[in-house]
Amino acid sequence: MTRSQRTSPYTRGLQERPLLAGAASPGAVKGQPRLVEKLAAQLPPEEHAPEELAAEETARLHAALLGWYSARRRNLPWRATRDPYCIWVSEIMLQQTRVQSVIGYYERWLRRFPTVQALAAAETEDVLRAWEGLGYYSRARNLQRAAQQIVVKHGGRLPQDVEQLRALPGIGPYSAGAIASIAYARDEPVVDGNVIRVLTRLFALTGNPRRGPLAGRLWRLARELLPRGQAGDFNQALMELGATVCTPRGARCGECPVSAQCRALALDRVESLPEAAPRPALTEERHAALIVRREGKALLLRAASDAPRWAGMWQFPDVILAAQQQAAEVLPAALAESTGLHVALEQRLCELQHHVTRFQLEVEVFAGRAVSGRARAAPASNIAEVRWCTPDEVAALPMPLYHRKIARAGLASLEEGAERRGRRSRAVPKAQATLARGAQ
Ligand code: SF4
Repeated sequence: MTRSQRTSPYTRGLQERPLLAGAASPGAVKGQPRLVEKLAAQLPPEEHAPEELAAEETARLHAALLGWYSARRRNLPWRATRDPYCIWVSEIMLQQTRVQSVIGYYERWLRRFPTVQALAAAETEDVLRAWEGLGYYSRARNLQRAAQQIVVKHGGRLPQDVEQLRALPGIGPYSAGAIASIAYARDEPVVDGNVIRVLTRLFALTGNPRRGPLAGRLWRLARELLPRGQAGDFNQALMELGATVCTPRGARCGECPVSAQCRALALDRVESLPEAAPRPALTEERHAALIVRREGKALLLRAASDAPRWAGMWQFPDVILAAQQQAAEVLPAALAESTGLHVALEQRLCELQHHVTRFQLEVEVFAGRAVSGRARAAPASNIAEVRWCTPDEVAALPMPLYHRKIARAGLASLEEGAERRGRRSRAVPKAQATLARGAQ
């Protein structure tokens, strides 16, 4: 197979107020000096050393943020508990995912896997199915691996120590800080996208906040700013402010509890901070996917556990087409090479679009008929298992959202086609009977 014939499941390589006068915020303290003006007259932003904030200014920041958070925080299900397992699950789900999307997943997850032990003992397919639609499936696999380690090494309870937390699969500095501070009231900082935005604006910090000197400086700053004994609420207040007020575009500085201390506001640099690294361009890919039916079942392939994308999940046969390439030239040959099953393309069922990370996929879905051979996973492929599945089995298996779309659209098209054929075949004897009656 040539490089241009890479197949998603088959080949290796294809593959996140103010203190200002008149402010209405609950965090506002009337009569404070106009720090904005003082700060604006100080050093240029990049020379400012926020780590050396005066104790008085830090205390003012704490009071404003904590007061605002106490009065304005959103009522979210993971804020009603201090259970480390629940907080851990919520923090992992919230990575790269909007709060409103997470709520339903979080509640269903805890009904299905209510404890670390339940998650550790679950079938990985059930774990992936429960995660389906949230994307970045390595998060689900890592949650389960970490749960298994917690049961074996930590007696079934998440450790409190940040270094021990970070030794678990899928727990990085942010998640470790969040679990330690929120669940265990430890004085540990967090730095995520929301905290980056608030801190770089509050202190007008320039540079790339994700790497290099500024990244380390933000972690030091987040630690320096922690009010001892209140790290959990303070961290959540910073994140809440970034999520609801200090937003990427259209920050509502008029409602911000710390606007009096905000250098970006004073310097009119709110919209230009944080400095963003250029986003990678969207890559467009043309795909051809195949629904091979046999005796009312469709062929699915399970990607190997080390496959570069969608590891362990079930997928329809699928190839990436090079420019000018047609599905018929590539799809049957790729499937034969990867499974030994020879198919004939029968009809084009539908076309769909899907956006995943930096890829924009344009997918043509075909129906195919098995001609010869017996489907099995070729040893050199990225396929771990092949299976003929009924529509109910397809619905129960974990699939990337992209392949779930194929299942819905493609199987529906097939069923419609079968119904039409059924109506025609029922109509023929009726017509023949009518003709026969007419002849009598
Ligand atoms: S930019 Fe606006 S919303 Fe963000 S911290 Fe400064 S004043 Fe608050």
